[in-house]
Amino acid sequence: MRDINHFIDGASFTGASGRFSDVFNPNTGEVQARVQLASAAELDRAVQAAQNAFDGWSSTNPQRRARVMFEFKRLVEANMTELAELLSSEHGKVIADSKGDIQRGLEVIEFACGIPHALKGEYTWGAGPGIDVYSMRQPLGVVSGITPFNFPAMIPMWMFGVAIAVGNTFILKPSERDPSVPVRLAELMMEAGAPAGVLNVVHGDKAAVDAILTHPQVHAISFVGSSDIANYVYQTGATHGKRVQAMGGAKNHGIVLPDADMDQVIKDLSGAAYGSAGERCMALPVVVPVGKQTADILRERMEAEIPTMRVGVSTDDKAHYGPVVTAQHKARVEGWIEKGVQEGAELVVDGRGFSLQGHEKGYFIGPSLFDNVTPDMESYKEEIFGPVLQIVRAGNFEEALSLASKHQYGNGVAIFTQNGRAARDFAARVNVGMVGINVPIPVPVAYHTFGGWKRSAFGDTNQHGMEGVKFWTKVKTVTARWPDSELEHADSSFVIPTMG
Ligand code: NAD
Repeated sequence: MRDINHFIDGASFTGASGRFSDVFNPNTGEVQARVQLASAAELDRAVQAAQNAFDGWSSTNPQRRARVMFEFKRLVEANMTELAELLSSEHGKVIADSKGDIQRGLEVIEFACGIPHALKGEYTWGAGPGIDVYSMRQPLGVVSGITPFNFPAMIPMWMFGVAIAVGNTFILKPSERDPSVPVRLAELMMEAGAPAGVLNVVHGDKAAVDAILTHPQVHAISFVGSSDIANYVYQTGATHGKRVQAMGGAKNHGIVLPDADMDQVIKDLSGAAYGSAGERCMALPVVVPVGKQTADILRERMEAEIPTMRVGVSTDDKAHYGPVVTAQHKARVEGWIEKGVQEGAELVVDGRGFSLQGHEKGYFIGPSLFDNVTPDMESYKEEIFGPVLQIVRAGNFEEALSLASKHQYGNGVAIFTQNGRAARDFAARVNVGMVGINVPIPVPVAYHTFGGWKRSAFGDTNQHGMEGVKFWTKVKTVTARWPDSELEHADSSFVIPTMG
């Protein structure tokens, strides 16, 4: 049995907690490795390594830090195939999708290559008589990222790419379900020239997370995962005086207006609802056709499209999507399908009981389609995170807008229409953080910023882009005066100084 170790201070580190978690191959259902689960003492060891690296790394000039990022990008690209295969073997997504996962993370690294420019502060010459004011962004110290299973390359890079480029040292606590790629990324970061201790990987479960949330030397925490845990991380971290951003779950709606290009909508919906087995926080698991005619056409077209989808092992290059991550998750998704049936939704296509020949123990679920789902149903309110598409019929534009706006989650939303005025109005009014207009998965590019609203994010600063730079730095503002000491002695002033 392969053991997956922590990566601390530039080297593999075997923990002594005696606690492990199985890592499965979702294609076969076999345990392929076991990952160590850290104790608080092991987390502390990583914090001390990161603390020791901080002075040197934070005082390295930004251009040199950027060069490490350039080299890291080159190394990840050179190792793309190996990384994608490793990722697929633990997550279950198809190889092309794993490459996309890595590539979207690399785009944040590309943004981080420009960090000298992004870190330039503000300057005002002559803010008062002989007085200049300038600001600088300084790193926070030892910081941490806690990441989910569904993007084991992209989401760590969202976080450590920016955090390290601005001069922090980092502790990554990846998902225990697919922990190998994060370790490889840390190894490649060392190979790229980051000093030991700048990026550490500590595996674990709640015990490791709690150790991060309460450690006095950890200054900021970025979390991505499910909402209840995001909320817990946000509350606990903040109570312990840390800066916290915590992204949670999602239930993204795709609104289809009657004038939408239906051929394109069916293609977009298929990929966005079922790609990666629906295990994306920016998937489109809910479609809201406006008007009966639109709904009837959409249902008929989706019903015809589903049998053309190929569910296969993650190495099958013709498969549209692979297995879900664990047996437990498969059972959970199938439980939600059952719940939908019990609640009175119409199960048009049932993906349960799907079996892939030769891989009968793999965690496969066929594509499922529900019609006549209503907002009072639990299966609508909650995130399913599987290959299940729910049709919620709306009578008109306002009703569709209100469904997305009132849902407890507000990560992403998409509108499909050829009417620019309607799309513009929708984008302005919808109560959701990321909006696609004829774009089914509106994950913003790396130099913009990623973040949902409502129960999809706790805290107020988004991931990557300039929001990321802000999150991972603190601003210092200097007001300076260089008087000629002979001639310009100022009198004591007992009133608040003004520049007037
Ligand atoms: P998860 O909440 O189970 O796990 C996320 C992290 O929290 C992992 O590192 C895990 O080890 C840790 N964790 C698990 N249980 C914990 C506990 N009780 N206390 C403290 N920490 C704990 O999420 P997941 O299943 O790995 O990922 C899927 C979820 O992530 C979905 O809800 C999805 O929508 C969400 N997600 C959100 C975004 C976003 O940007 N909003 C992006 C990707 C995924």
